[in-house]
Amino acid sequence: MPQLQRLAVNADQICNKSINLTNEQQHYLHRVLRLNQGDKFIAMDGRGHWWLAVLEAQETGLIASITEEIVVNRELAVEVTLMAALPKGNGFDEVVRQATELGVARIWPVTSDRTLLKPSGQKVDRWKRIAAEAAEQSERQFVPTIFEPISFDLAVKDCGQKHRFICVARGDNRHLWDCLIGLEPPCPPPRGELSIAIAIGPEGGWTDGEVKRAIEFGFEPVSLGSRILRAVTAPIVALSLVGTAFEKC
Ligand code: SAM
Repeated sequence: MPQLQRLAVNADQICNKSINLTNEQQHYLHRVLRLNQGDKFIAMDGRGHWWLAVLEAQETGLIASITEEIVVNRELAVEVTLMAALPKGNGFDEVVRQATELGVARIWPVTSDRTLLKPSGQKVDRWKRIAAEAAEQSERQFVPTIFEPISFDLAVKDCGQKHRFICVARGDNRHLWDCLIGLEPPCPPPRGELSIAIAIGPEGGWTDGEVKRAIEFGFEPVSLGSRILRAVTAPIVALSLVGTAFEKC
């Protein structure tokens, strides 16, 4: 298949093998990507489906017809939830973008005792858009779910992932890599069978109380190495380790 442009669509835009394109999507396909009637592109619903679509002009504007479903497998064999304390400024934008590229399934922004930023609702919409763009760019089938921010204490209680790790910058903890390779999943694990949560703290680090509560709820404190990483770098290192441990299994 030739290299085609990709467009994220909502499943409810699809009816009888036609995609009802929004004005914004028509503008993007026609004015930005310079696609015209008869041109093909890939539509992805962010929930695992890709379709080959062809543009058609109608009186009301452009629509797209689906010609076939495309089967791809670009997802990690493990479902990873990143629980990350919000860094200051717009630092979380890059965390969302890069974590999506690295295959994260869910991103859970959390506020912690030392979080400086109190997020607005608009921020969450912005992170969802960034995740959709990054999923398109990295040719993923799934757009990660971005949860509403909640306190870290509530998030650890609600965490349903089987394996849970809290990254702690100092101390004599096992390296995350040693924990991951010790999980020994069936290779490849059936989708959803192996789920991992990784928690990353804010610039000032977790408080002792937060680490203690996380341990009470089944999180293992882990190291990402001897150097202290920035709050925006640590998630990328952790997810790279997960990708390396499970991508090729
Ligand atoms: N101010 C903290 C300190 O001096 O200990 C460092 C916080 S660090 C900038 C932000 C977060 O990144 C930490 O809470 C931790 O989750 C993660 N992190 C950074 N470096 C790490 C490392 N070497 N091992 C494990 N986690 C790390």
